[in-house]
Amino acid sequence: MGLGSNLSNPVKQINQAVVTLGSLPKTSVITCSKLYGSAPQGPQDQPDFVNAVCQLTTELLPLALLSALQGIELAQGRVKKRHWGERLIDLDILLFDDVTLSLPELTIPHIEISNRDFVLIPLFEIAPDLIVPNQGSLRNLIAQLKTTYLHPLSLFTV
Ligand code: AMP
Repeated sequence: MGLGSNLSNPVKQINQAVVTLGSLPKTSVITCSKLYGSAPQGPQDQPDFVNAVCQLTTELLPLALLSALQGIELAQGRVKKRHWGERLIDLDILLFDDVTLSLPELTIPHIEISNRDFVLIPLFEIAPDLIVPNQGSLRNLIAQLKTTYLHPLSLFTV
């Protein structure tokens, strides 16, 4: 799971989403990375983002999990303003075991996973030996990152 926020106290938004994720049916939060600050990748006239990744166990199927994530986003008051723009909370399925999926509404692994330092670096923290289906080792993906704008913010607990 990838989490991001850059509005209305982003740290609070992410912590709240993690708590809600852990209360989804048949779902537990196993571990989370530190929180990271990152520069926005889309329009620059918006605040920096706070990002983190978490590992879950769930008996939900991928589409049911996606729908649950969208429910959490809405419940926290997310309103989509512009592409790659500011957001209260963004929840993405980054990986789902070794599943690969290409549906109109859901791509697994997440289509942008290999381009995003704010995903790869936190993932490395919680799963350094990870192999991303069809894309190889996480170590190698990180080695190919051109620049990184990340800085760790703080530890947080679920
Ligand atoms: P975003 O602006 O990042 O929140 O994109 C949301 C859209 O991405 C939703 O309409 C989802 O159906 C779609 N989507 C495709 N793949 C994924 C994924 N792996 N995780 C979350 N959303 C996804």
